[in-house]
Formats: sequence, structure tokens, C-alpha cells
Amino acid sequence: MTTHPISIEGNPVSADGSGDRHIVGSCPLDCPDGCSWVVTVKDGAATKLRGNPDHPFTAGGLCKKVNPWLRHAKDPNRLMQPLRRVAAKGPGLAPSEAFEPISWEEAIGEIADRFTTIIETTGPAAIWPFAGTGNVGFIQGSAVPVGSRLWNRLGVSGHHLTICSVSGHFGLRYSQGESAGMDPEDVVDAGVVMIWGSNTLVANQHWWPFVQRAADGGAPVIVIDPVATRTAQRADLHVAPRPGTDAALALGLCHEIIAQGAVDQSFLADSTLGYEEFARSVEPWTAAKSGEVCGVEPEAIVELARLLGDNAPLALKLGQGMQRHAHGGQAARVVSCIPALLGSFADLGGGLVYSTDAPYGLNRSGAAGRHLGRRPRYLAMTNLAGNLLDLDDPPVEALIVHGANPVVSNPDVDRVRSGLSRSDLFTVVIEIFHTETTDYADIVLPSTMQHEQLELNNSFAHLYLNLNRPAIEPPGQCLSHTEIFRRLATAMELDEPELHLSDEEVLACLLDTEPYRAAGITVDVLKDKGWIRVPEAPTPYRPFSQGFPTPSGRFEFVSERAEDDGFGRLPNYRAPVEAGRPPTTDETGKRWFDLIAIGSDGHINSVFAGTELVRSRTQAPTVVIHPLDAAAAGLGDRQQVVIGNDRGSFQATLEIGAAARPGVAATSKGWWGMAVNSTVAERDSDMGRGGVFHDNRVWIVAADEG
Ligand code: SF4
Repeated sequence: MTTHPISIEGNPVSADGSGDRHIVGSCPLDCPDGCSWVVTVKDGAATKLRGNPDHPFTAGGLCKKVNPWLRHAKDPNRLMQPLRRVAAKGPGLAPSEAFEPISWEEAIGEIADRFTTIIETTGPAAIWPFAGTGNVGFIQGSAVPVGSRLWNRLGVSGHHLTICSVSGHFGLRYSQGESAGMDPEDVVDAGVVMIWGSNTLVANQHWWPFVQRAADGGAPVIVIDPVATRTAQRADLHVAPRPGTDAALALGLCHEIIAQGAVDQSFLADSTLGYEEFARSVEPWTAAKSGEVCGVEPEAIVELARLLGDNAPLALKLGQGMQRHAHGGQAARVVSCIPALLGSFADLGGGLVYSTDAPYGLNRSGAAGRHLGRRPRYLAMTNLAGNLLDLDDPPVEALIVHGANPVVSNPDVDRVRSGLSRSDLFTVVIEIFHTETTDYADIVLPSTMQHEQLELNNSFAHLYLNLNRPAIEPPGQCLSHTEIFRRLATAMELDEPELHLSDEEVLACLLDTEPYRAAGITVDVLKDKGWIRVPEAPTPYRPFSQGFPTPSGRFEFVSERAEDDGFGRLPNYRAPVEAGRPPTTDETGKRWFDLIAIGSDGHINSVFAGTELVRSRTQAPTVVIHPLDAAAAGLGDRQQVVIGNDRGSFQATLEIGAAARPGVAATSKGWWGMAVNSTVAERDSDMGRGGVFHDNRVWIVAADEG
């Protein structure tokens, strides 16, 4: 069996005579910031992890969620050896009762035998590699889903990563051509900053100093969010639409910007398609109509439009929160029309940023080995329950889960549990700790963590490519994901060289593109510095200065592609399925709310949320409602409540406060054992089959009534 032991690199950062080595790495978590870090190593042990002060964007900072990384790595509950189930699937048993330790040879052999049998009897489509965003890197994570070469060769089911941002990407493609964004650093030159559906201070905190510089220069900062997050509380103006009504608010703003004569006629004439038709379509979207739909005072919409028109260029930050509903893709498409009307795409400091991923220009298809085979079908990860319970032709018979904790993160968690409980389903989970998902695993494989493996990370909030070098040897029997898949290929007697590339060879493959070659960026260059500005985003980065990558080469207010795809020639508003309604009390006396689950201050998604350290640091889960709603529901502050609907329920402590607008219940996501997502429907958004986490109607009652 070929193995690739990690080669510990030298000391590119410092050699200070202390015997310490300082290894540059990067955070792999599903967070826009893409922090660069430095691990201090002494006598083969990682003694310290801190932010890399040389990084241009993250500038020496990490976040309180990641600062204890090395403590998590040494947590006594960390998985250290492969395990095989010896008891029934499901929660309740201690890991030592549910599993027995086995060797890597046994574990890989058992997986290979089972996969081979499934391929020979049902066909490879019955195997579903289920990758999450626990690591968003290119080598070990989900940016190019690790294992892709093996999966392409085998022809197993494809995995559609739909849990986060897909709808917004699709929506922006209809208007902008791609979701490439302005350089977030250029916000310092903005005339006005609008943050739409992002709790930046918590979920994109390294961007905030740039926003602050714009604010110090006089740029008003506006936040659009149904919840008065920490970021909203720091804004000059906070507008709180009902969840899922973002497109209605945006259409009202477009109407007002046009009515106030604030459009940039020259940009519209030179760089857009269909302005006149669009302008006619928004005539009915007066501030009164828009305000009625989204629950905002018309005067606030008029004033907001005036603020935008008076202060362009507009730097618009779109967060993922605003597209997690039935028509999230359409909402992103409509919102993108605002900077187009103002001509802000043409100005330094103006434009829109949803993700900065587009110009990274890596050789993803080569790294994924797309030439090795085709996938017979693609399964959406947010349809896990349905795919496990209802799918045939063929049914899913094997699941290999990595970087994912679907029992916490997926919609309709109770049905996910039912699906994972199938006795005929063979489930492998690659993990760092036991999770609520390993409760359903047949085989658990212990994974390396970021400082123990080679990785390449991008960011979706800056334009620097980060190299993560392994700082120490893996503990126990932990293996990298790549090594696990190499061993699996060997056990399945697949000897194509592409299935046995070392991690360094994958890294070299990723950099093997014309822009990187032309810029002279090689593995050695990247190793030398730890990060580089991506070559397709020179400073200043003006992604649309040569035109928009649409069929017309212009920003498309009207889109034939959108019309052909059933989304309408013009950007429009379609009501969410459940959300966007005023609070109501039903005939049984239950008060109903739109539930929003924002990013937690204590953990990224569900990563590390089950560790003792995080549990001791974070408050118990809460749900916040407005005082008017609390009075109507007869609920009191700090009371235990049950939040539910016909899909499921969970318990939390009630907080009464104005952070939630009337009709909205605000909680945070990622908690282990809380099952927020048991209330969320497993339903697709309009574009890209995205999850609809914020299109969720729930009741709240006292716990002793629930
Ligand atoms: S989670 Fe985000 S802010 Fe925290 S260290 Fe990682 S990239 Fe930086």
C-alpha cells in the first residue's frame, strides 16, 4: 500500500534561535475571512497558534472561535483510531458502547468490500459521497471535494453542495454574468456602504476595519437585516424587512432611486441592457407598496434611496442570509440592480460583493480529475432525508460523510435521523470528534486537523490565496482525507496514477493554470510567503471594467436566460413559501413567527460546538422575540420555551428584546443537541436547489405547554 507521510517543512517565517519553528497556515473553516495563521512548534509539538501579522487582509487576527484551535486538537474526546459499530444505530449509547476499535486495514478493507459489492449489485450511483463545509479547502475540503478523482473514476452519485450560498450565485449570474465581486478592501473608497443579510462583526469580522475606514471618511453604513444584530446596531441606519421579502424592498428602492433622478445615465447607456423596460416594471413598486410587503415604513424606503443616491458609489455587501428562502436567487438578482442603477460598478469603492471566489482561477477540474469519469446523477445535500428515504433508481445504499454534520446542519433533522437509521444503509463518517452524525455511522475514521495536513485555502472576502503547511505529525492514527482516499483506491485495486497523487502533486495541479504560470506563482513561491494575491485580481481589481460576462456583455436588467429558465425576463418579487408574514395567533392560541437562525458568536456552523470548551463558553441557546409578540403570546423573559411546527421542535431560553422585529424569532445556528433545523423544510429554493433555512414558520409556547 502506498502511503504519503507528511513532510514537515522548514521555517519560512522565522528562525529566532529559540528552537521554535513557525509554520504558516490558514484557517479552513466556512467563514469568509480566510485567515492566515502561524503555528509555533517546539520539539515536534504545536505550542501556539496565532494570526499571521503579515497577511494583508486578516493582519494578525483570528477570531475567538478559532483561537483555541490547539486546545480542540488536544481535546481528550478527539477521535484517534478507526471504529466499527457494534450496536444499533442512533443516539443514547456512549461511543465506547456503540463502537469497537479496528485497524486502518480492517476499516479500509471493509469499506472497499462493501463499495465493491454495491457497485456490482446495484451500481455505483448507489454510493453518495456527502461533503460538507467543515473544511472549505482545495486539497482536503470541499472547494474541490476531496476524493473527487476516486469518485469520478467509480462513477458514483455526484454531490451538490447546496447548504450555503448557491442561490445567490445563480441569481447574480443572470444580471452580472458571474458573482465576482468588488475587492472588499476597496470599500474604503465607498461613498456609502450597504450590508444586506450579513452579521459582519461576527461572520466577516476582518472586513469591518475597512468598513470603519469608509465610515470615518464620511460614508454612511446601512444594514438590511430582519434582526438587529451587533452589526446592525453599529450602523448609521438599520432597516429590518420581513424575512424573505428582500426583493420587494429592493424593487421599492429601485423605484425610488429612479423617481429621485439618482440613476447614472451614462453607465446605464454604456454598460447595461434593458434599463427602460426595467424602469417601467418597477413603476408599481412605490415605497408604499414595497413597505407594505416587507413591513418597512415607506418613509424609511424613500430616505434610504435618498441616502444611496446622494452618496454613490455604493459598496454593497450581500450576505448568504438573504438568499436562504424560496426565492433567494431572485432576491440576489434584484438587489444587484441597485448598484447598477447608481453606476457604482464603474467606480473604485463601488459595486457588489457576494463572494470573491471568481478570480482565484485554480485548476479545479484538473484537481478533481473530471476526465476520469462522469457521474450518473447529482444529489442535493439539503435533500438528504428525501434522498435516503424516498429515492429509488437506485436507492442510496452507502454514504461517506466528511466535513459535515448533517444531523445538526441539514433541514428537517428528524427525517434525516430516520434516513440515517436505515439498517440497510452503510454509512462511513470521517471526523475529528464524535458528533450527532457519528451516532449513525457504521465506520468512523479519525481525521487530521488543519495544522497536521497540507491545504490550500481561498477566501470569499479577500483576494489572497493561503497555503497551509503541516506543522506537526498527526496524533494517534489520524489520517488526512486524501490519504484515506488513496488507501481506499488501493484496496479497491485501482492503480491509475491520478488516484494516488501526493498532496503536493495536487497542490501543483491546482496552480497549473495560465494566470499562475504567467505570474510565476509556483508551489515554491507560495511556500516561501504563505499567501499570494491571486494573479487575476491585480490591484485595483475592477472585475467588470471590460464588460460583464453576460451574453450581451452588459449588466442585464432583462435576461433572456432567466426567462428561458423560468425566472422571468425581468427581476421580480415572488413571496416566500412560509416567511414574510405578520405575526399571527392561531385558533389554538399559538403565536406564529418567522424563525431566523443567524451565525453564532461561539462557533462556525456546528464545528467544535460540542466540545466542553465551547459549551462552557457559550450561553445556552436562546430565541429572541419582540416585546409586543411576547405580550401577545403571554411569554416572559428567560422563560423556557418550545419552538416548533409540524416538522419538529426544539427548546430554548426566551429573550425578550427589540433585536427581533415584530413577527420574527431570532436564534443562532449550529448548536449540538438543539435541533433548530428540525423545524426547517427540506424544500429547494428557486435557483440551484439551495436550502430554505430562513423560510420557516414556527410557533412558540411555554415549555410546560409544548
Ligand atoms: S473562523 Fe473566520 S475569522 Fe475565525 S479564524 Fe477562521 S477565517 Fe478567521
